[in-house]
Amino acid sequence: MTGRILQTALKKALQRGAPLQTRAIVPRVAQAGTETLGGPRPSAAAVRTFTSAGPKPYTVPDSAWGRNRAARLELAAAYRGLDALGLNEGVCNHLSVMAPAADGSDQEVMLVFEYGHHFSEVTASSLLAVDADAKTVEGQGRPDITAACIHLGIRRVRPDAKVIFHTHQPYATTLACLKDPELKMVHQNSTRFYNRVAYDNNYAGLAHAMDEGERLGQQLGSKDIMFMGNHGVISTASTIAMAFDHLYYLERAAELQILAFSTQKEIALLSAEASAATEKQLWDSLTMYADAHYYSMYRRLRKTQPDFEL
Ligand SMILES: [Zn+2]
Repeated sequence: MTGRILQTALKKALQRGAPLQTRAIVPRVAQAGTETLGGPRPSAAAVRTFTSAGPKPYTVPDSAWGRNRAARLELAAAYRGLDALGLNEGVCNHLSVMAPAADGSDQEVMLVFEYGHHFSEVTASSLLAVDADAKTVEGQGRPDITAACIHLGIRRVRPDAKVIFHTHQPYATTLACLKDPELKMVHQNSTRFYNRVAYDNNYAGLAHAMDEGERLGQQLGSKDIMFMGNHGVISTASTIAMAFDHLYYLERAAELQILAFSTQKEIALLSAEASAATEKQLWDSLTMYADAHYYSMYRRLRKTQPDFEL
């Protein structure tokens, strides 16, 4: 299908909630210990990969429904938390996670918010679940077309990306609008992303086709973060806590870089050796740091806007 025909078919399918037949689906790579769409049946451990093994502020039954519910709670908190940080834009931007279907059918679904909702309105039960063809299988309504194309498309290339967050957060997006968008090693925060950022400078319009999502996935490669030129950023991770923490510190690092360069003074860039050594130190304990940060946010949300768990 050509891009325009594909775009029209995708829009129509999303409007009527029908399955998409966009193109021959690229083979999905089965990886040890991970759950893949259309791949081998997941192990019990694999379907928990959106969350780490640490203690949680909520309890859910040990079942497919319970794991689906946990993913919904955590994703709803991420929407609210990023909104509280001012990292979202309008009713655009989108966060998704792969989770077991609530009906226990062994199907893996993608949770994402409904088109037209603001991040601040998202609740655990209002999240939609869609299948690999963007058909809504839990809830009513449809996701934003760009959410379906970006998130499902990337996962066709990166099935390990259980969690994908896409925002137009201001400082990081400012860097993405520069001819040289490189995240420079200006601060300790920056080193967390040393050699972990992909750059895509091929912006050509709104992502209205799965092909574009797949292209973004190929551009992302094995990196955790991608600067989307003239557009925004993507954070991928195996847990919601980590994807949230990535975006928070990416924004802080970008902010510090822009502030440092705005002084028009000479910048004391960190050496490659110091950047690599600090990156290793941080990543050795990053799950612990990310969990502590994310679940503290989760507990604060319970006090300030407890309806997110509904
Ligand atoms: Zn966007």
